Amino acid sequence: MLEDNIKVVRARIGEAIAHRKAKKVTGDSVTIVAVTKNHPAQVVNEALAAGLNNIGENRVQEAKGKKEILTPGGVWHLIGHLQTNKIKQAVELFDIIESVDSEKVLAAINKEAGKLGKIQDILLQVNVAREEQKSGFLQEEFIAMLPKLAIFDKVRVRGLMVIAQATDIPEETKPVFAAGYEDFLLLQKQVGVAHCDILSMGMTHDYWIAVEEGANSVRLGTALFGLRDYSIK
Ligand SMILES: *Cc1c(COP(=O)(O)O)cnc(C)c1O
Repeated sequence: MLEDNIKVVRARIGEAIAHRKAKKVTGDSVTIVAVTKNHPAQVVNEALAAGLNNIGENRVQEAKGKKEILTPGGVWHLIGHLQTNKIKQAVELFDIIESVDSEKVLAAINKEAGKLGKIQDILLQVNVAREEQKSGFLQEEFIAMLPKLAIFDKVRVRGLMVIAQATDIPEETKPVFAAGYEDFLLLQKQVGVAHCDILSMGMTHDYWIAVEEGANSVRLGTALFGLRDYSIK
């Protein structure tokens, strides 16, 4: 049951906060982004009814289909790689785009947001683990990007998103999340702390480790809803 799963997750998050070695600037509260991809639209309603107000989807098309049949509600996060031809729709549909993984995508979002008269909240996705199959700024690209961020005046850089490597030994992800936290501090220094307040790290297999290292937003699918049905698009 979703309610039971939420209890387990919140307890584990609480323990992780208690285990933090040092106080984190990201604070002691953690947002759960309910990842509803490959689940029917009804699951979004169940999440909202259970008090999970943040909804994560990785494909623009799937999110669009769901939003068309649902009554408006929730804060929608895009967490999957964004293709150039989907950027306009993404800006229309999502409250926050977590998966900004290149300067090109950032520039295109900025342009579309300008046309729509919107200030688009975004996170920069950093590929801290340097995995070839994953998107995201490499560390040196992220550092090079920092001084350029101010150019993009139709986006609000709210923070960072980090995906750790898949591993059977969750503890192995610790250094990746620790590096993500250090990057978040650099980003805050660059853009100011006022609106830069989200460090999105951790999913079902590693969220408690991410929280220990300073994540204040976790993206959870399986831990909340069980296994996904990949026939649902
Ligand atoms: C699917 C997905 C998640 C959720 O994965 P679970 O392992 O089911 O918690 C989190 N983040 C991203 C970027 C995803 O694509």
